[in-house]
Amino acid sequence: MPLSERKLIEQIRRVAAKGGSVVTGIGDDCAVLSVPAGHEILVTTDFSIENVHFRRDWHPPALVGWRCLTRGLSDIAAMGGEPRAAFLSLAVAEDVPQKWVSDFLKGLLTLARKFKVPLAGGDTAQSVSGIQADIIVVGSVPKGKAILRSGAKPGDQIYVTGSLGASSAILRKLELSTRSRSKFVSLPLFLPLPLPPEILRQLRPLPRLAIGQWLRQHRVASAMIDLSDGLSTDLDHLCEESRVGAELIAEAIPRAWLGADKAPVAMEFALHGGDDYELLFTAAGSVPAKVAGVKVTRIGHIIKSRGMHLRSNGSSKPLKAGGWEHFKKKE
Ligand SMILES: [Mg+2]
Repeated sequence: MPLSERKLIEQIRRVAAKGGSVVTGIGDDCAVLSVPAGHEILVTTDFSIENVHFRRDWHPPALVGWRCLTRGLSDIAAMGGEPRAAFLSLAVAEDVPQKWVSDFLKGLLTLARKFKVPLAGGDTAQSVSGIQADIIVVGSVPKGKAILRSGAKPGDQIYVTGSLGASSAILRKLELSTRSRSKFVSLPLFLPLPLPPEILRQLRPLPRLAIGQWLRQHRVASAMIDLSDGLSTDLDHLCEESRVGAELIAEAIPRAWLGADKAPVAMEFALHGGDDYELLFTAAGSVPAKVAGVKVTRIGHIIKSRGMHLRSNGSSKPLKAGGWEHFKKKE
């Protein structure tokens, strides 16, 4: 362990914030949170595991911390909720430098401050090898108003926010360039500006909390999920819970671009790549072209018969869930 457990807890305590919904934060046996009257509690937990969700040689620690919290906040966004507090359980092996842990916390706390989410507790331990971080985010939503995955009906239109595929396309670039030892090997967290917005967003994705809340407040979405595993996999989850099928229009899917030529990423990244942290939702009524300043695109519709289809140039073929498999098969 780079730091004693006590020191690590002290470090987290120093950076942790009080206030907002946190009545009592780090230092007691439990955190005490208050939530507005008439709200229900939302809880989500997400692992960030070295060599599964990130690689120490590719991802700067601050970026890993940022993305660790993004995963939790994005789940709260997908319910139309408001985040109240975050909790971090962190296990690091002996060989992990102290600076890695400090920078990881810095990245996590930068995003936490941006969305005014206090880090209200957690746990630390020494791991046998590598780094395992588990983020827990507690949120709230007015009673009965959470947007579930199960509300999609045949005839509803399917929408996504932002654009898809940048994250997995950049990972593929990293993978290829690691082999060829190109300049992509050490990608700094803060690249000089001007930086293409799609790359910036991939490096430091912003959870779509304002959009989720707007869709809930205006009763627009019938069902919603965040895109963490990839469009085809997450749409499949939504269809499963709603007991419906879906038809997507390939040409309508908003693909991200990376290069100066603004050429869109390959369709496989937009369809199956993960870690986009955009929202996928269904709606029966009209939906504005932009919500909270972010583009919203209609990409297909819900059908009664189970299964997913991809329509392109007038012909339709079955679409299988094939989300991002992280680094499992490449190690
Ligand atoms: Mg989710």
